[in-house]
This record gives sequence, C-alpha cells and structure tokens, in this order.
Amino acid sequence: MSLEELYGTMGVSPAVLAYGEAVLDSLRVRFAAIDQVAEYNQAKVLQAMQVNRVGASCFAATTGYGYDDVGRNTLEKVYADCFHTEAALVRPQITCGTHALAVALSANLRPGDELLSPVGRPYDTLEEVIGIRPSQCSLKEYGVSYRQVDLLADGTFDYDGIRAAIGPKTKLITIQRSKGYATRPTFSVEQIGKLIAFCKECKPDVLCMVDNCYGEFVETIEPSDVGADMIVGSLIKNPGGGLAPIGGYICGTTECVERCAYRLSAPGLGQEVGANLGIMPAFYQGFFLAPTVVSGALKGAIFAANLYERLGFPVVPNGTESRHDIIQAVELGSEAAMIAFCKGIQEAAPVDSFATPLPWDMPGYDDPVIMAAGAFVQGSSIELSADGPIRPPYAVYFQGGLTWYHAKLGILLSLQELCNANLVDLEKLHKITADLQAQFR
Ligand SMILES: *Cc1c(COP(=O)(O)O)cnc(C)c1O
Repeated sequence: MSLEELYGTMGVSPAVLAYGEAVLDSLRVRFAAIDQVAEYNQAKVLQAMQVNRVGASCFAATTGYGYDDVGRNTLEKVYADCFHTEAALVRPQITCGTHALAVALSANLRPGDELLSPVGRPYDTLEEVIGIRPSQCSLKEYGVSYRQVDLLADGTFDYDGIRAAIGPKTKLITIQRSKGYATRPTFSVEQIGKLIAFCKECKPDVLCMVDNCYGEFVETIEPSDVGADMIVGSLIKNPGGGLAPIGGYICGTTECVERCAYRLSAPGLGQEVGANLGIMPAFYQGFFLAPTVVSGALKGAIFAANLYERLGFPVVPNGTESRHDIIQAVELGSEAAMIAFCKGIQEAAPVDSFATPLPWDMPGYDDPVIMAAGAFVQGSSIELSADGPIRPPYAVYFQGGLTWYHAKLGILLSLQELCNANLVDLEKLHKITADLQAQFR
C-alpha cells in the first residue's frame, strides 16, 4: 500500500494530501532552519549529560526522604549546565507550570515587596497566584503588591511606563515569554534580553524571572543566556519531551534557586529531600528527546499556519513570521468550523482517536470550550492538542505533536473535516495546489 493509500484509509482525501504536500514544498527552507536549531540544542543537551557523567546509577528509584539522590542531583546539574545557570530545581514534586511559578515567586518575594509585570497581564492561572483575582493564599494575602505595565498598542514594551513603575519596593520582575492564549506577540529571547537589561539599568538589584513555558528549545539560547535570574517551566510541555509524566523546573542563580527549594520543601530542608520514586529515566530521556520533539511541534505549527492562511483563514503567528514558541492560533470564523477542526485533530491521535470532541461549559470559563487531545500524559500540551473558547473570532489554539509526522496527519485531518463539512472552498484549494506545484516543483 502506498502512503497515499494508507492516508486514504485514515480519511485523508487525495485533494487534501496534494494540497498539504504542495504547501510543504514551499516550506523546505524554513524546515531546514528548524532542523539546525534542533541539532544545536541536541548537542547542548548531550554535552550537559556527558559533562555531568550521567550513568545507569542515575536511573535508580529512591523513596522516603530521598537523601543523596544521585539521579535527582545529577539531573539538576544537567538542567543547570544546559541552560547556563548556577543552579536548578527539577522535581516531580513540582506538580505543574503554575506550581513552579508560584514557588519561584513566593520564595523570592517577602511581605512589603512589589512584583512587576512589564508585559501586561500574566497567564490566567497566575492571576490567582498573584491575587489579581482574589484567592486564598495569594501573594497579595501575604503582603506582596503587584503592578503591571501593559504593552504598547503595537505589542512593544512601554519603556517609559516601565521606568516609572519600577520603585523602591519593586523586588521581582516577571516576564512571560509566550503569548499563551492572549493576542499579543510572543517575545524572542533577544527581545527579553533587552527588556531585562533595561530593568536592571533602572534598578540593578531587581530580580528578573521569565515564565519560559512553551519556549524551551525553540531557539538556541534561552532567557537565562540574556540575564534572567530565573527561568521557570513545566515538564509536561517542551523540556519533558513528552515522556515526563509530571514535573516542573526552576533554573537560575544559586541564591534564587535555594530559596525556591526551601519554599518547595521546608526551611532547613531545601534541595536535600524529595525522593524520585523511579521517575528519573523519563526525565532524562524526555530531556534528551526534547529538542527533536520541539522541532516537530514547530514544524506542525508552521505547516498549519501556511495551510490555513493560504485558504484565507487569519492565523497568529502568520505563515512567515519567525517563531518563539510552539503555539499556533487559527481563526476559523464559526463554531461548526471549530468542531470540525478539533474532530480532525482527535481522529489523528494515538490515544482516544475514537472520541468526538464537543463544546462544554468548563468551570471558570464564560463561554463553552472545545478541546481535542489524545495524549499519553493527561493534559500534556507538548502532545498534539487543540482547544479554544466558542466565541468570535472562533479561534482554535493548536500546539504540540511528539513527532512531526503525527502533527502533519492531525493538521491534514483537521482540514479534511472542514472540507467534509463544506466549510472550505474546494475549487480554491485545487487552484492553490496547482499554483504551488508550478512554483516549487
Ligand atoms: C502552561 C502555561 C503556564 C501554566 O502551566 P500549567 O502546567 O498549565 O500549570 C504558565 N504560563 C504559560 C505561558 C503557560 O503556557
């Protein structure tokens, strides 16, 4: 059976496949650049593992207090070396990205201190951590105040506003790299470096923390290479490589990371406790695979952007923009199109491919939300997934894919479902296919 026939049995029509292949022909140069970043980052990870003499003894399970846990201690050195920081805290006891960020903030802010976000509103879940939305045990309850400087209308930093907002109480500056589910641009590491330099010029002893979620290994440098005192993220996103079943990390200066360890466990205990419960092989192997996995997810995002943009759907980032995270938004214009898109993503999944995603009223959201995910790890968004609130402009946020080929099939099937529901102009699709074939073959 040919690949075209095999894809046919899985529901992809020859027309959609031909269109997808024609779009891919236009992306060879960009894909080659992504492969180069992945090769660099693979070497970076390997070097960190070799320098720290990762051996079979690192994979042994520990229980109880977990004193002298060689696997855990070595893994933290590997993360620190790879991200060029003095220290790292990488733990299954950090339950998710929000938890890692909450630990980093609450460990390094004391009563009377002020937290500043110079990049506008933070990720939804941080609103309760900070106390922007009233919440039990928020930073606000403990006497930490919060200020925010919004981005300018064109998405750039409001340097005058930031200078004015940095005061005697400003202790820590939080910078979110990825746009998450907002409409602002994602920042490049270089842009973040300039912002950090500016903040430290205004106040040399201010701490700069970067929420690095969805950004790891997208570029060859990380925010820790451009002055961040801490970078923070989730292991069920990029750096877990799809294999980590839980966890978070904080990499940064010894002073900051030590405080995080005392906050995570207990004053006096810090980094010395925390059994690994046998999870180390997944953490090491996931980190080893992460550069390749991220490159596949990036290819998927760029493929989706170009596939849908050429058919007239607005996409963010657009088809040609450079990338600083793995999230792709596609504005589909109707509820029916969102349902069709998510149906296709779900059909392509290795797990729960037989399920049909439908909008539902999720606690905490004003509008019904639709989600497609067929993941090995629950909630993992480095695995192929799509979701969005059912409201104008009816945008789905699409991310992940442990392999490029899986991402490709998911995107092809999403388009197929739109075609099957008569939501795509097939004549236009044929015409673009022919034009691209003439241009690139
Ligand atoms: C995912 C994410 C978080 C929170 O991570 P969870 O693991 O969902 O708690 C925080 N910030 C950004 C930018 C994210 O993408």
